[in-house]
Amino acid sequence: MPLLFNDGPDAIERQNEAVSEEQRSSEISATPVKHFDAVVIGAGFSGLYMLYRLRELGLSTRVYEAGAGVGGTWYWNRYPGARCDSPSVHYSYSFSPELEQEWEWTEKYPRQPEILRYLNHVADRFDLRRDIQLNTRVLSIIYNEASNLWMIKTDQGDQVSARYCITAAGCLSTPNTPKFPGLASFQGQVYHTGQWPHEGVDFTGKRVGVIGTGSTGIQVIPQIAKQAAHVTVFQRTPNYSLPARNRPLTPEEKASVKANYPQLRQTDRESAAGFTITRNEQSALEVTAEERQKKFEEVWAIGGFQVLASFSDIGINLESNTYMADFVRAKIGETVHNPEVARLLMPHDHPIGTKRICIDTGYYETYNRENVSLVDVRTSPIEEITPTGLRTKDAEYELDALVCATGFDAMTGALFNMEIRGKNGQLLKEKWADGPRTYLGVMTAGFPNLFIITGPGSPSVLSNMTVSIEQHVEWIGDCVQYMREHHCSSIEAEVAAEDAWVAHVNEVANFTLFPRANSWYLGANIPGKPRVFMPYVGGVGNYRIKCQEVADKGYEGFCLMTYD
Ligand code: NAP
Repeated sequence: MPLLFNDGPDAIERQNEAVSEEQRSSEISATPVKHFDAVVIGAGFSGLYMLYRLRELGLSTRVYEAGAGVGGTWYWNRYPGARCDSPSVHYSYSFSPELEQEWEWTEKYPRQPEILRYLNHVADRFDLRRDIQLNTRVLSIIYNEASNLWMIKTDQGDQVSARYCITAAGCLSTPNTPKFPGLASFQGQVYHTGQWPHEGVDFTGKRVGVIGTGSTGIQVIPQIAKQAAHVTVFQRTPNYSLPARNRPLTPEEKASVKANYPQLRQTDRESAAGFTITRNEQSALEVTAEERQKKFEEVWAIGGFQVLASFSDIGINLESNTYMADFVRAKIGETVHNPEVARLLMPHDHPIGTKRICIDTGYYETYNRENVSLVDVRTSPIEEITPTGLRTKDAEYELDALVCATGFDAMTGALFNMEIRGKNGQLLKEKWADGPRTYLGVMTAGFPNLFIITGPGSPSVLSNMTVSIEQHVEWIGDCVQYMREHHCSSIEAEVAAEDAWVAHVNEVANFTLFPRANSWYLGANIPGKPRVFMPYVGGVGNYRIKCQEVADKGYEGFCLMTYD
């Protein structure tokens, strides 16, 4: 069967054409093979912008998206209460001044439906849909050394080749449902928050069990409690949660943001976390107890991530951190009426901020409701799910519905769900068996022309994701442009550069208190996953400078192959 090419006559394509038709056909089977300059996996924030950028460069691009719509995280996580805890005016694209001006965010922290509307608007406004194939899951991405092309297969029978493959598959997109014995026997409904039914769920009159008290559980529990007859929360580890203090944006705030967007975005890009937080540069140890309390009260009144910036050393000094943790525990004690329930809700097993901090609206107050009860499954573990409910070591609970807010196989889950094979047929999952290894979090040695957006080793989940996504997309776009200008057919991370980067990522993480918690940042939530700190703690601004320096030095630490 003839191959179909829709590439432009640019330098890369001339190189592609050097690959014989027979070569490609023999690699993929007899099915017609379509060729693209680039394949992007995922149509969330990353994939949409990557497509836009590659189109700007004139590359033929196909995006594969497993969902029936665009939106990624915001397409799947439709549970009641789902909301972003980065402020809306920061958690949005900056690449188009027109888009910034025309879109109206309504609240300080945007709800899931609003973010999903925004992403659909972006897809329409930039005419992105014609290159996005929905309802299509990529099964394998296999590098062919002879042709220097990636061969991509999907569950819809597509078999395509591409010079560049870019994963935009999300860091928190592979839901984790623990293998509770008896789960299949449950006669009620079971939901995972990350795969919430699109038609919604009516819990009226139902006895609902919720397992999990991370960011998601903390958002969903207050909402279900408003509707259900009874909610039983099964908590293994209490988390620290800070008040969101969400509210509608005023017309004055919206106008001011729109007038100042360029400065605001620049500050985000140069910041540590990807959005503007005013950090007190004092140590919590250099002030009196009264001054410390006053500061904590001040930031508590503001709410959100600002609380963690009350002093400069909350993340690195255990004594300072303990002051902050004690303050939050005291707030829980003040809010929750039942002292025993309050005690169970107080975290003691990790420094504050070392697991992803939660941001809530009325979470602790929810435990003052008559229809909400808390079960400590640390001391009395879940033994099985029965046909009529859940049994712990000490008691049985009758349930009509079970909600698993049990998180995700973070950062590597979506990549390992695909068969990704690089040079010499090496499987990515095998290369990363002892933990992910990347150079700058964007490429891994042995996998030429495969880019990972917000991969392990980049600030990613420790930052405002939209800022990190834009930086990666733009760096990748610039890299592709450079390759064209310099007649390069492939780019690949060098092993030495990768080793040095992995060592640096670990060194920086070990300087902080992060490694002290059993968090998903370390893979601790998935049985058998290697315990390696995955995101880069060094800060968005510093990381951006490093990436730019690498590019400015002709992609130092990468091996570029030319074809002239
Ligand atoms: P998560 O933070 O991993 O929390 C999962 C919860 O399920 C934990 O409480 C965990 O307990 C519990 N759990 C897991 N397996 C269990 C088992 N076998 N038995 C009992 N309990 C079990 O997941 P998440 O809440 O979905 O949040 C994941 C990340 O998504 C967040 O950290 C955040 O980055 C992002 N997110 C953001 C927002 C937002 O922007 N507002 C909202 C939701 C999520 P243990 O702690 O004991 O393991």
